[in-house]
Amino acid sequence: MSESLMDLTLHELSELMRARKISSLEVMQAKLARLKEREPQIHAYIRWDEKAAIEEARQRDNVQDHQGSLWGLPIANKDIICVEGVETSCASKILSGYIPPYNATVVERLRGEGAILFGNTNMDEFAMGSSTETSHFGVTRNPWDLTRTPGGSSGGSAAAVAGGLAIAALGTDTGGSIRQPAALCGCVGLKPTYGRVSRYGLIAFASSLDQIGPITQDVEDAALLLEILAGHDSKDSTSLKVEVPRYREHLKKGIRDMKLGLPKEYFISGLDPQVKVAIDEAIKVYTNLGVEVVECQLPYTEYAVATYYVLATAQASSNLARYDGVQYGYRAPNFSNLVDMYFETRSLGFGPEVKRRIILGTYALSSGYYDAYYLKAQKMRTLIRQDFEEAFKKCDAILTPTSPSCAFKIGERMNDPLTMYLSDIFTISANLAGIPGISIPCGFSKEGLPVGLQILGKHFDEATLLRTAYAFEQATDHHKRKPVVR
Ligand code: GLN
Repeated sequence: MSESLMDLTLHELSELMRARKISSLEVMQAKLARLKEREPQIHAYIRWDEKAAIEEARQRDNVQDHQGSLWGLPIANKDIICVEGVETSCASKILSGYIPPYNATVVERLRGEGAILFGNTNMDEFAMGSSTETSHFGVTRNPWDLTRTPGGSSGGSAAAVAGGLAIAALGTDTGGSIRQPAALCGCVGLKPTYGRVSRYGLIAFASSLDQIGPITQDVEDAALLLEILAGHDSKDSTSLKVEVPRYREHLKKGIRDMKLGLPKEYFISGLDPQVKVAIDEAIKVYTNLGVEVVECQLPYTEYAVATYYVLATAQASSNLARYDGVQYGYRAPNFSNLVDMYFETRSLGFGPEVKRRIILGTYALSSGYYDAYYLKAQKMRTLIRQDFEEAFKKCDAILTPTSPSCAFKIGERMNDPLTMYLSDIFTISANLAGIPGISIPCGFSKEGLPVGLQILGKHFDEATLLRTAYAFEQATDHHKRKPVVR
C-alpha cells in the first residue's frame, strides 16, 4: 500500500500546513493519486472537479497568511448539501442537472476556515436507505470488503474517509445515516443535536429529523469540524441560539467522574454475537478507565422504528412534492399535458425506494388516517424523548452498539425493505429525541469488519460525547487500523 498524505488526519495536516511543511497542492495531488488508485474499486464519489480543485489549492498556497484551521485542506461533501455552481442531485435522477445558485451555510463555514470542498459523495437516493444501494449512480463498496456495502445513506462519505479518498467528509443523519455508515466503515461519525448545525442549503428529507455532521478518521477531527459547523444561523429557523463550546479543549478533561448508562433494550436477540463481543470489550475499557457503568431503561425503544417510518415518510412525501419537472432538474421527455408531465417526470425520475416512501407517507397523512398514524407517531415520539430525559437523570451518556450487524453483503437486503429498515434500530431513537450521538470504532469481527460503538448524550451536550469518545480512542487503537484496498 502506498504511503500518502491522505492517511493523515485533518488536525495533523492542519499542523503541517501551519508550519508550512506541506502545501495545499501536495495534499490535492495526493488525493487525486488516491482517487486514481482506489476510486474505481470503491466508487465513493458521484462527481468531482479536478481542475477546480487544483486551481483552488494553488490559490490557497499563494496566500501568505493562512486564515483558518482548515486552510487548503479538501473536505468531501455529501451530494445532498448545496454548493453554488456544483451539480447536486441527492443521487437521484430527478435532480439531474440541478445546479444550486447558493451555498449551504455549512459550506460557507468550512470555506471560511480555508477548506476546499472537494467532490460530492455517493448516497442512497434522497438519503433513503442504509446501504448506498438506492443511488441512481450505482453502489459504493466498503473498503474493508468490496463485496459489502458501506452502510448508508452517507455511505460514500464513510467509504471515502475509510478508504483514504477523503481526509474528512460531511454526512447527514435523519435516522442514522452518519453513524451507521461510520460504524460499518470504521470511521467516527457524529450526529449533532437537532438545532445545533444549520440546515440552510441541505436538501430536505424529513425536516424534523435531518441534521448535518462530520465523518472523520478520529474524534479530534470530529471535534474540530463540529466547532466550525455548529452555531445559530438566521437562515435556518430551527437552528438554536446555544453557545458553541470549544470542543477540542474539552477532549482531554478525562472521564473519571462520569457515569455511563447501558440500556438493556439495546442488547436484543437480533444483535450479531460478534458485535456484542466488541461492545462488551468496549465496556471493559471504560470500566478500566474508572467510569461507573450503570444499567438504564429506555422502555419505548421497541416503537422507535415504526414511529420513525411514519414520521420520516410523511415529511418526505411533503418535501418531495416540489420535484415535478417544473422547477428543478429532470423533466420527462414525452407527455401530453401538464398533469401528464408531472406524472411522467415523477414516475421516471424517482427510484423504487423513494416511491415507496412517498406512497407510505402520503397514506399516513391522508385525512381519516392522520390521527391513526401521524398523530399517534408524534405522541410516541414524545414518549421516546421522555425515556431519554429519565435515563439521563442517572447517567451522563449512554452506550449502545451503533448497528446490530457489521457491514452486510451488497444485494443481501435490497429485496427485503423491513430487514433494511431494522438496520437503523439503534440509531433512530436519537433523531426522534433530537439528542446527539457519535459512533466510534470499537473492534473488529473475525472477518476483519469494523464494529461501531454509539454514545448518546443530552441535548446540546456534544462536549461530553466527544470527551467520552476521545478517552476510549486514547486507550485503544482500533481507529488507527486501515483497510487494504486492492
Ligand atoms: N436508513 C434510514 C432511512 O432509510 C435513515 C436514513 C438517514 O438517516 N438519512 O430512512
